[in-house]
Amino acid sequence: MTDRQIMDIANVVHKKTLIIDTHVDIPDTNYATEVLDPGIDNPKLKCDLVKMNKGGIDGVFLAAYVKQKERNEQGYKDAYGSAIAQLEAMHRLTEKMYPDRCELATSTAGVERIAEAGKKAIMVGIENGFAIGKDLSKIEEFYNLGVRYITLGHNGHNDICDSCKPNEKLGDKGSEHDGLSEFGREVVAEMNRLGVIADVSHISEKSLYDVVEVSGAPVIASHSGCLALWDHPRNLNDKQLKVLAKNGGVIQIVAVAGFLIEDSPQRGKAVSDVAEQLDQGTIETPQFIEKMKEIDAKYPPAADVDVFVDHIEHAVKVAGIDHVGIGSDFDGGGGIPGFNDHSEALNVTIELVRRGYSEDDIIKIWGGNFLRVWTEVEKVAQELQRGSENG
Ligand SMILES: [Zn+2]
Repeated sequence: MTDRQIMDIANVVHKKTLIIDTHVDIPDTNYATEVLDPGIDNPKLKCDLVKMNKGGIDGVFLAAYVKQKERNEQGYKDAYGSAIAQLEAMHRLTEKMYPDRCELATSTAGVERIAEAGKKAIMVGIENGFAIGKDLSKIEEFYNLGVRYITLGHNGHNDICDSCKPNEKLGDKGSEHDGLSEFGREVVAEMNRLGVIADVSHISEKSLYDVVEVSGAPVIASHSGCLALWDHPRNLNDKQLKVLAKNGGVIQIVAVAGFLIEDSPQRGKAVSDVAEQLDQGTIETPQFIEKMKEIDAKYPPAADVDVFVDHIEHAVKVAGIDHVGIGSDFDGGGGIPGFNDHSEALNVTIELVRRGYSEDDIIKIWGGNFLRVWTEVEKVAQELQRGSENG
């Protein structure tokens, strides 16, 4: 095929596909105010309503990211407060600021209805189960605010499970719970009951196996890469991919440059220095974005759309075409040349067409697989709730 033919096919397929990105962060709680307006083509955001439109994105999961801190009374209180403030910002976006252009989606049927009406579906998740502390009832509270997935951990162990990146500063040793804790088992059961998807990105290898074993519904890795291609703790190995697939779940390939391929040592150092300096991991606050622009200009990332699609392809080879999707991590560290914000999403489809993926395959990767998992999670919740009413 010529480039022209590839382009023509990609354009047609991209337009008819329901496109969902399962992981986008919001930089801070000024989100959805005049200070940080997602209704304009905002240079401070990689995901805003204008860029989504330009790139043909129909829905995004916005994640309320909660930094792992010390597990004491103040730590739990701050974590919960941080999640609530971000969820309020997301509701402000859909209910106050732009109800004519986007809407909160809390079900698979909702996503389809909203997309059909020509609006953007905004779904919400929580990144780090630390937000619930040790209080199971908070899951339902978050559910009532629209939360449909919870990433069980982040950088550092919490009360639910071990992290893939223990945090020495918080006193983490190699493993604390040997995977999922007893409390973590109750958390997953409660999520199953309510219909909240368990997200296994960021958690340890053993934690992932435990979650899959305990969960009555398929699970997702909302933003992860493949370890076979680049040995990074945030990536999943082939065994994990197979276990996820066997359980009916999906891996959503992440677009964080440093997870996809080895960066130059200079770039690696520059990024970790900035993260250290700002003490906020990889979350893209406006200050972080400014610094990253300087770094990108000086030491461009080695990853590009080709490398990103290599990860999709590897996951498809190991887990199967029904178990792979996309979770960019825009505004949380994601962004590579060619897919640096939502306006460039077509480039991913072009590369998939170039590599011979069919229209059906592309529909699955860009959201079909994820929606199937979510539908399954909804079904399991209905059955569990019906069961408890009868019994
Ligand atoms: Zn993350």
